[in-house]
Amino acid sequence: MEVIYQTALLKSRIGALRNSGRTIGFVPTMGALHEGHLSLVRFCRQQNDITVVSIFVNPNQFNDKTDLERYPRMPDKDLALLRSTGYDLVFMPGDKEVYPEPDTRVFDFGGLDRIMEGKHRPGHFNGVAQVVTRLFELVKPHKAYFGLKDFQQLAILRKVTSDLNFPVEIVSCPIVRECDGLAMSSRNMLLSQEERKRALALSQSLFQAKAMKVRHTPDEVKDFVTGRIQSSPGVDLEYFEIIDGLTLLPVSTWDDRHDVIGCIAARVGKVRLIDNINFSS
Ligand code: AMP
Repeated sequence: MEVIYQTALLKSRIGALRNSGRTIGFVPTMGALHEGHLSLVRFCRQQNDITVVSIFVNPNQFNDKTDLERYPRMPDKDLALLRSTGYDLVFMPGDKEVYPEPDTRVFDFGGLDRIMEGKHRPGHFNGVAQVVTRLFELVKPHKAYFGLKDFQQLAILRKVTSDLNFPVEIVSCPIVRECDGLAMSSRNMLLSQEERKRALALSQSLFQAKAMKVRHTPDEVKDFVTGRIQSSPGVDLEYFEIIDGLTLLPVSTWDDRHDVIGCIAARVGKVRLIDNINFSS
């Protein structure tokens, strides 16, 4: 197990590993690790000879400066968790190692960024695509692991890797939840005790929405979730959309050709949370 801070050293390690014919799996993260991240690391270890984890709070994907400043950082705890889970390389670069020059690339997501996170966080996915493609160029993974928790991010990264012909397989991993249903997130630790209780409105309304599917149309379910969240004290709904899992376009019936996903974003106090549920599984 090795922790690498510099791009040059990472490149030389990766070069040697690839020459030796070993398969490389990659888990990009922003740190403040929890079981959701560690589940990705475990999948990666099962499926590859070498597991590379990156910890980098990417400034380019934050459209809100305060959000970037408040983002939790705890490198020592992260490394201890990774040590007990197992890994081969951890890459923990500073900003200049990832972006020696400002990254001015502008990506075309073919409209996948027009709704939900893309609409509410302008520039967010462009920053995500910048960092992920940069990290792919450095780590040269055979497979890369992403959580379904960030559903729209996964759809967008699949498009970017295929448009740019990156020879990497994108592997999606299930959402890991706390015992009471709250989707695990690094941001959960920013919630006060009271806010932590209030945040349950997100997962609970998604579970209720799924149970309603048998008797109600997507529009009715959308109205229900919107109303429920709007009447939850201390929770400000940003959006709830019921979408086609491939095109990310809103659906009007359940018998869609692809998986139908309900995606929610809300602010609990100052903390912005997202979650989603698959209505088709
Ligand atoms: P982040 O550190 O928030 O950028 O997340 C790094 C990776 O972990 C992304 O692919 C996320 O989708 C994934 N992830 C975050 N939370 C969860 C969770 N609760 N369950 C599964 N994957 C997650």
